[in-house]
Amino acid sequence: MPDYRRLRVALLGAGAVGSQVAALLRLHSAELADRASASLELAGIAVRNLDAPRETDLPKELFTTDAESLIVGADIVIELMGGIEPARTYLLQAINSGADVVTANKALLATHGPEIFDAADQVGAQVYYEAAAAGAIPIIRPLRDSLAGDRVQRIMGIVNGTTNYILDRMDTEGAEFADVLADAQRLGYAEADPTADVEGYDAAQKAAILASLAFHTSVPLESVHREGITGIDKAMMDAARHAGLVIKLLAVCERLRDGDSESISVRVYPALIDRTHPLASVHGANNAVFVQAEAAGNLMFYGAGAGGVQTASAVLGDVVSAARRHIAGGVGVGESTRANLAVVPIGQVTTRYQITLEVDDQPGVLATVAGILSEGRVSIATVEQTVAGEPVPGGGTAPQTPENTARLVIGTHKAKEQDLSETVSRLAGSGVVERVVSVLRVEGE
Ligand code: NAP
Repeated sequence: MPDYRRLRVALLGAGAVGSQVAALLRLHSAELADRASASLELAGIAVRNLDAPRETDLPKELFTTDAESLIVGADIVIELMGGIEPARTYLLQAINSGADVVTANKALLATHGPEIFDAADQVGAQVYYEAAAAGAIPIIRPLRDSLAGDRVQRIMGIVNGTTNYILDRMDTEGAEFADVLADAQRLGYAEADPTADVEGYDAAQKAAILASLAFHTSVPLESVHREGITGIDKAMMDAARHAGLVIKLLAVCERLRDGDSESISVRVYPALIDRTHPLASVHGANNAVFVQAEAAGNLMFYGAGAGGVQTASAVLGDVVSAARRHIAGGVGVGESTRANLAVVPIGQVTTRYQITLEVDDQPGVLATVAGILSEGRVSIATVEQTVAGEPVPGGGTAPQTPENTARLVIGTHKAKEQDLSETVSRLAGSGVVERVVSVLRVEGE
C-alpha cells in the first residue's frame, strides 16, 4: 500500500448503522485508502454501554464511553448516535476542533441544520449527510452537486419505509391498518412506538432536508405540513384501487410561481397517485425519490431507505469524500441557501382531490353538491356514484352505505387547499351529505 497520510476517524455510535460502518471500514481499509488517498484509521468508537452486544465483530479496545476525548485530534468524526443531544454538542465540538464530519442524523439536521452548517462555514469544515434522507439511496449528492446547475421543480418522495410497508400490504392484501402495523412491529419494520413513522414526523424531517437542498433555501421543520397515515382504512384503499390509484405517504417539495415571484411548498401526507406513476411501483419497505428538474426532466432514485449495512454504504461514501477533502484542504463549500424562498402554508397549495361522500339517495342531490363545489371554486373533473354491493371497475364490490344513502366519489381539478377545505365544511353542513367519508389529495401530473 502506498504511504498514504493517516487520518484519525472517530465513530460515535455502534448501533444498527455504526456497527456496520466500523466493520466495513476495517474490512475494506486498503480499498478505501486507495479511493480516499488516505489511510482511514478507526481511532475509537464511543458508545453508552461498553458491554452491550454488537452486530459485528469489533475489538473491545476500540470502545469508549468518553466521546469528548475521542473527538479531540480526530480528522473525521462520524456521528451515528441519533437524537439531538449530545449528538449536536459532539458535532459542534468536532467541527470546532478541525474535523470534517459525517452524520446520518435527520432529526438533528432538520432541527439544527443551520447552526451546524454555520459552525462548519466559520472554520471551513465540511458536513456530509448522504444517509440522513432515504438511507442507502444517493439523493443528497445528486441534489447538492449533480443538479446544482439545474432548477428543481418538484420532488415527490416515498422516504419512510415503515409507512410504505404498511400501505403496500393494505393495498395488495386488502388488510386493515392496525393489523398490518402489529405485523410490522413483530417483524421489526416498525418501532414499538410507531408515532415518528406513522404520523409522518420522520418523513417531514427528510422533506425539510431535501427541500433545503433542492431549492437552495433553509427550510425549517416547522414549515413542513405533516399528516400521517393513521386515518387510512381498507375502504379508502379499496376505493383507490378501483379508481386505478394507490395511496402512498408522500413527501412533496414543490416550487410555486406567482407571476415573477417564487415560493415553495413542503408537505407530507398520504396521497393518491396513479398506478402508472413510477412511485406506485415502490413496494414493501423500499424508498424512492422522484425528482422533476427544469432541464434534466424526470429522475427516479430508488432503493433501500434504511437498514444498518445499506445505510452504512452511504455513510462510507461520505467518509471517503470527507477524507479526500481533508487531504486537499482549502475552504469548505457551505450549504447553498441564498435563494431564500418563502415556504407557503398548506392553505395556499393547489392540488387535485378525491372527495368521497355519503349522500341522501334522492333526486337533486348531485346538483346541490355540484353547486356547493362550484361556489367554492372547486371544479369537478369526475363523479362516480357507487351502489352498495355492486361490482366496481378494478374488481370487488362497492362498500356498504347506510339505507337510503349513496356514495359519491368526486375527483376535482386543481383547487386551492383553503377553498377545498371550506367547501368540504359547507358540504358537510349542507343537509344532503350524511357523511364526508374521506378527502385525499391526488398527486403526480
Ligand atoms: P441505534 O441502533 O440506536 O444506535 C445508536 C448508537 O449510539 C448505540 O451504539 C448507542 O450506544 C450510541 N449512543 C447513543 N447515545 C449515546 C451517547 N449519549 N453517548 C455515546 N453513545 C451513544 O441507531 P441507528 O439505527 O444505528 O441510527 C444511527 C443514526 O443513523 C440515527 O441518526 C438514525 O436516524 C440514522 N439512520 C438510521 C438508519 C437505520 O436503518 N437504522 C437509516 C438511516 C439513518 P449503546 O449501543 O451503548 O447504547
